Amino acid sequence: MSAELIFKPITELASLLAEGKVSSVELMRAHVARTRAVDPRLQAFNSFDEADALSQAAASDGRRAAGASRGPLDGIPVGMKDVISVAGQPLTASSRMLANYVSPYDATVTRRLREAGAIIWGRLNLDEFAMGSSTENSATRTTGNPWDLTRVPGGSSGGSAAAVAAGEAAAALGSDTGGSIRQPAALCGVVGLKPTYGLVSRYGLIAFASSLDQIGPFARSVEDTAITLGAIAGHDPLDSTSLRNPIPDYRAGLDRPGATWKLGIAREYFAEGLDPEVAAAVERAVDHYRSIGCEIREVSLPHTKYAVGAYYIIATAECSSNLSRYDGVRYGHRSAEAADAVDLYFKSRAEGFGAEVKRRIILGTYVLSSGYYDAYYLRAQKVRTLIRRDFLNAFREVDAILTPTSPTAAFRKGERAADPLAMYLSDIYTIGVNLAGLPGISVPCGFTRGRLPIGLQIIGKPFGEADMLAIARAYERDHAWSAQHPEMNGA
Ligand code: GLN
Repeated sequence: MSAELIFKPITELASLLAEGKVSSVELMRAHVARTRAVDPRLQAFNSFDEADALSQAAASDGRRAAGASRGPLDGIPVGMKDVISVAGQPLTASSRMLANYVSPYDATVTRRLREAGAIIWGRLNLDEFAMGSSTENSATRTTGNPWDLTRVPGGSSGGSAAAVAAGEAAAALGSDTGGSIRQPAALCGVVGLKPTYGLVSRYGLIAFASSLDQIGPFARSVEDTAITLGAIAGHDPLDSTSLRNPIPDYRAGLDRPGATWKLGIAREYFAEGLDPEVAAAVERAVDHYRSIGCEIREVSLPHTKYAVGAYYIIATAECSSNLSRYDGVRYGHRSAEAADAVDLYFKSRAEGFGAEVKRRIILGTYVLSSGYYDAYYLRAQKVRTLIRRDFLNAFREVDAILTPTSPTAAFRKGERAADPLAMYLSDIYTIGVNLAGLPGISVPCGFTRGRLPIGLQIIGKPFGEADMLAIARAYERDHAWSAQHPEMNGA
């Protein structure tokens, strides 16, 4: 029974639970057993609390018995990237800096998932402080790709993507600053959605780059993604960037038989560096849309080539400010060697942060320093405006834009670890979306000859999540990629 349960979509599990064919405790036990069986090799979890998960499951069964189910997520295990606060549980950001830190409160997304009845399940690995594209920058462990354990799951939310792909959780949350939900979703063959900036509260998320960060869901189907997004979206007075837009019923709007859309293809996204197998898979997806009556138009995003450069100025500037709070005094790692207060800051930060985090703090401090601010930071902000304008111009003609999510399928562990620039270019198709504040989704669209998943990215209009999900569903409905699962044998 349990082997069948772990890959079922949330929608089907919800019916089994409602009909009494399975209990939430049984479902949770199946996920614990799966995690115990595969995670010693996969290494997606930083930690999990089995007793706590089983007691949440028992509470869910109790609600159902009393006729008080909270809906489709009630009793469903949802994994959490280890940068999202869960009261009483460790919160490490996969950093030595926070190795012994415990969350004093729930993030708003955690609270909302609990209100929807979901079981908050485990702390999932990431690149330290969400900085990276392979999860190799984690100070705790190296996560594998469930389709090939010698390869990376992508990053920074690599643990979240790998856990959902491997059947260790039915869905998961991640955070996306430059691609960290969509790129690992593509590399692990699951669906991952980055919401419009301001749709989902970041209260209780460890900040990386505050003008770019958004929390979003991973799941194995578009419908499960819509359900999870619906549970976490909406205004929160505790996050001053959270907007008051009404939240539609994403799930109800998914299937629109006969609906057609105008879809854009950006020439700039099919350029040098794009793997031919990825290009071919995305082109086949475009053909599918054509075949169901969508109009495909070429659009131009001329400032695309500046996106990675602008991102690495803005993101590092913001992170140098956000990470200044880790000073060894209030919380986090404190050096035992310090001679005085200034030495305490130096040594605590030198010992607590890894190499990539230090590189970014140094870069960010540099671009903000007097004399360089105008040349770098201010100019990057202007480029950001041009990039947003490119997208808004394109959206006057089309409803959404189709691109590859990542220029390549999953790369080998170690392959790009020594070359930060090669790693930064993994996010070339996802970063513009964050700079422009737009929503984006990655949907599985096939496999390479070596059986590695490929992702199609659909970029939506601001607050266009409902249409974006319906467009994703119009592809998924005719392609059973999400019915295929990694075997996780060998390695
Ligand atoms: N890979 C990008 C970076 O390293 C994006 C990370 C993210 O979205 N958190 O900054």
